[in-house]
Parts: sequence; C-alpha cells; structure tokens
Amino acid sequence: MSEQPMESDSFPKTDRTRIRREPHLGSYQRADVYAVVDASPLCHVGYVIDGEPFVTPTMHWRQGERLYWHGSVGSRFLRQVEGARACVTCSLVDGYVLARSALNHAVNYRSAMLFGTAHVMESLEAREEALRLFMEGLFPKRWDTLRPVTEKELRATSVLWMDIEEATVKARTGDPSDADESHVPVWAGVIPMQATLKDAQPAPEVPVSIVLPEPLAALVASGRLR
Ligand SMILES: Cc1cc2nc3c(=O)[nH]c(=O)nc-3n(C[C@H](O)[C@H](O)[C@H](O)COP(=O)(O)OP(=O)(O)OC[C@H]3O[C@@H](n4cnc5c(N)ncnc54)[C@H](O)[C@@H]3O)c2cc1C
Repeated sequence: MSEQPMESDSFPKTDRTRIRREPHLGSYQRADVYAVVDASPLCHVGYVIDGEPFVTPTMHWRQGERLYWHGSVGSRFLRQVEGARACVTCSLVDGYVLARSALNHAVNYRSAMLFGTAHVMESLEAREEALRLFMEGLFPKRWDTLRPVTEKELRATSVLWMDIEEATVKARTGDPSDADESHVPVWAGVIPMQATLKDAQPAPEVPVSIVLPEPLAALVASGRLR
C-alpha cells in the first residue's frame, strides 16, 4: 500500500470506513482502491430493500469516481434501488496462507469496499455510451465491430451508477504470521492463486476465416482478466 497519502488523493476516513481490524493492511488512497476495483472481474452490490439485505454479484466498470453496473430492467433489485444507499465490495484472492496452527491460517487478498447512493440511468443514449465503455474496457476495439445495439435492447437493460463517496482497501501479502512457531514440524507457507484467461474457444458456427482479433488475442495471451 502507498504511504503518506496527500489529503486530496484519499477518500475521507469516516465512522463508517475507519478500519478497525488490522488497519495496517488498509488504505484510503484512491489509487489503491481503484487498482483493486479495476482488477476485479466482478463485484458484490449490497442494498437494503424494504428492510431486507440483498447482496448481488455482478460485473462492474468504473469511470473516474463513478462506478457502474447493469442488468435486466426486469430484475427486482435493479428496479428498486434508485436513491438507495449501496455498499459494493470487490475482492481478489491471491493465495492460501498455511500456518502451523489452524487459526493462524489466512489468505492473501486484495479487497475494496465502496459506499455511495445508487442511481438508475434514465437516458437511452447515456445507457448506450456507458455500455460501450463497459465493453471497451473488457474487450478493446470490439464495440465498433458488433451488430449495433437496438433501442429494444437498451430499453430492456438497466444501467446503474454510484459516485464513490467513501472507500477503503485492504490487502494481505506474504508469509504466515507464526514464524516463531517454526519448531512445529509441519509445512507452512503460501500457495499462490491466480485467475487467468485461457485459450479462446470459437463458437462452432464461426468460420475459420474469422479469428480472434489482435487486441483480444493479446489479452488472452497475457492471461490478465482485465
Ligand atoms: C478473500 C477474503 C477472505 C477473508 N477471510 C476472512 C476470514 O476468514 N475471517 C476474517 O475475520 N476476515 C476475513 N477477511 C477480512 C474481512 O474482509 C474483514 O476485513 C475483517 O473480517 C474485518 O471486518 P470488520 O467488519 O470487523 O472490519 P472493520 O475494521 O470493523 O470495518 C470497518 C471498515 O473497514 C473497511 N473494511 C473492512 N474490511 C475491509 C476489506 N476486507 N476490504 C476493504 N475495506 C474493508 C470498511 O470500510 C469497513 O466499513 C477476508 C477478506 C477477504 C478479501
């Protein structure tokens, strides 16, 4: 995590976001938060609707300080969330950490927790542009090669957004924390974990003359999710 944040580079530390447990693993720095948000293939959006908590996994994308997610207009949670407070988490597991005793086991991870108010995007033009940015972020240069989005499709698709008002990030790295128990004759250490892209599999009806275009082939070769 970065050190000595300048005030303007950080999210405010509030009652809600003051990291009480293992604060040395945490940061309020925007750059640290965004690095985790942008590397995560999905997020979990939590709201309380009519007194009931819901946590929904979904894809997300970010433009500056605004987070976006989308779904079907038929979805209950997407229709009812205009103006609702939301808490969004993004998490990445980087490894299992095996210690000499059961309760010292851990995981190496990076996670971000974001707070704000959810809004539903009304304008179809704005929805289309937001969705274009979503696609371009995942699959560079693909949007312009596709069959254009129809108005019917746009009307059936909700796009939600939230300005990230408060946010924190936590990250654990490194070895198990019980080196002082190394007299216990059991293996200890880290088993790294990584989610990667694998070889692309064309749909059966795609002619062999149509190949995965270069930006995407390079992405697959890199293995990076985003
Ligand atoms: C993959 C993964 C596995 C984990 N497994 C465990 C586990 O098994 N047991 C366990 O106790 N903890 C685990 N954690 C850590 C867990 O997410 C919490 O940080 C921890 O339990 C403390 O929660 P709390 O509500 O008491 O924290 P508090 O310090 O009271 O939370 C206060 C504020 O700190 C911030 N914050 C807290 N946790 C996080 C976080 N993870 N990321 C970003 N901001 C945060 C939020 O702004 C929150 O409002 C895991 C985390 C990840 C990502």
